[in-house]
Amino acid sequence: MSEVVSVKQTNMENIYECEFNDGSFRLCTKNLAPGFNVYGERLIKYEGIEYREWNAFRSKLAGAILKGLKHNPVKKDIKMLYLGAASGTTISHVSDIIELKGKAYGVEFSPRVVRELLLVAQRRPNIFPILADARFPQNYKSLVENVDVLYVDIAQPDQTDIAIYNAKFFLKVNGYMLLVIKARSIDVTKDPKEIYKAEVEKLENSNFETIQIINLDPYDKDHAMVLSKYKG
Ligand code: SAM
Repeated sequence: MSEVVSVKQTNMENIYECEFNDGSFRLCTKNLAPGFNVYGERLIKYEGIEYREWNAFRSKLAGAILKGLKHNPVKKDIKMLYLGAASGTTISHVSDIIELKGKAYGVEFSPRVVRELLLVAQRRPNIFPILADARFPQNYKSLVENVDVLYVDIAQPDQTDIAIYNAKFFLKVNGYMLLVIKARSIDVTKDPKEIYKAEVEKLENSNFETIQIINLDPYDKDHAMVLSKYKG
């Protein structure tokens, strides 16, 4: 297996780039739970610090960063509401980035998957797993405070509406939303570009200002990440 030769800070807070002796580069984050990985990712020791490789084929946020995300609202100390946390792949890297003063509330409606998320959260006190359906934010209103970032990756046909509804409950004015659009969950017959356009229009009609639309190919085919700012 290739060995790490350097780890450098990227222009995004708490996100690093590891270089290996075979000439390859990978994103990585500083491991908040040293000695433990979450989804089989490589642990990398460099100058006494442990990092975790951040696989862009497994995490759409890493894919978006490698595909040129211009502004990353996921930073040290922020609060995030994450819809579709699944077994914790991406939210675990969010946990590394936001550090212990930050909070990541992870909503997931599959009990089997939440059991795995709970194991991740046991070692990461800044992750708060919530077993709930994101369609009904009123059911977790008492558990979640207002957040700086809303991250949505639930692969549902009506997920943009669900995202907007959650923003009304929890997203601060001038907060950011990162929305993953899976074209095939919305309409398999349409051109993905048409779908992205229609979903972005829904956001703009609900007081979101579009900052960037990133096509996640080749990391995720027919997926886009939309970064927008909430005007309240
Ligand atoms: N974001 C995850 C990551 O990068 O680690 C992967 C998310 S996966 C594509 C979508 C997840 O959303 C699934 O685990 C699914 O159970 C969950 N989900 C779908 N609809 C949901 C809903 N209405 N409420 C809560 N979770 C939902």
